[in-house]
Amino acid sequence: MDERQYYTESKAMKPATLNCPSCHTSDTYELNWIVRKKKDRLPPGGDERDRAKFAKAQSYMVLMDDKVACKNLRCRKRFDISGVKTMAFI
Ligand SMILES: [Zn+2]
Repeated sequence: MDERQYYTESKAMKPATLNCPSCHTSDTYELNWIVRKKKDRLPPGGDERDRAKFAKAQSYMVLMDDKVACKNLRCRKRFDISGVKTMAFI
């Protein structure tokens, strides 16, 4: 069984404060996350191994964006998101 079947997948936006390396302006950006919430029970069709893995599984979210466009109108450069955890348990 694909481990993704342990989770209900949804999308979420979360704000993060980022600092543009070009113009050094810091602003709040809404970042896109995929939220994988663990299901209440193992979906049908799981075997012994799935049961063990499912028991240990935890809800988590993964950052989808890796770049943002600077909000400073005089800059507008795209830069890499850094200093943000790209994966978090919830
Ligand atoms: Zn900038």
